[in-house]
Amino acid sequence: PYVVTDLCTGCRYTECVSVCPVECFHIDDTMTYIDPENCIDCGGCVPVCPVGAIKAAHKLAPDKVEWIEINRRRVAETPVVTSRLPPLPGADERKQAIIAR
Ligand code: SF4
Repeated sequence: PYVVTDLCTGCRYTECVSVCPVECFHIDDTMTYIDPENCIDCGGCVPVCPVGAIKAAHKLAPDKVEWIEINRRRVAETPVVTSRLPPLPGADERKQAIIAR
């Protein structure tokens, strides 16, 4: 499956939600998460994320591997989101900082 990583935290643009064909995405107050049981590995959400927060699980850097389990745990605790939402306040500034890294 694909995994949302910490780069989403505080941005939560949700472009990913609008392209996912199988409603994989869950949401909380800070970010989105992918349900690994539903993800069909289409990869459609990867290029639309403005901050590059989504990666294939097998391509995660060692310091991001923990996000596999975090996504799995958080989807059990959070609601499904099926349509795009406004990004969080400050998301654009955060995005610029991430892109500038
Ligand atoms: Fe949805 Fe495809 Fe992204 Fe999986 S890879 S979360 S199925 S858009």
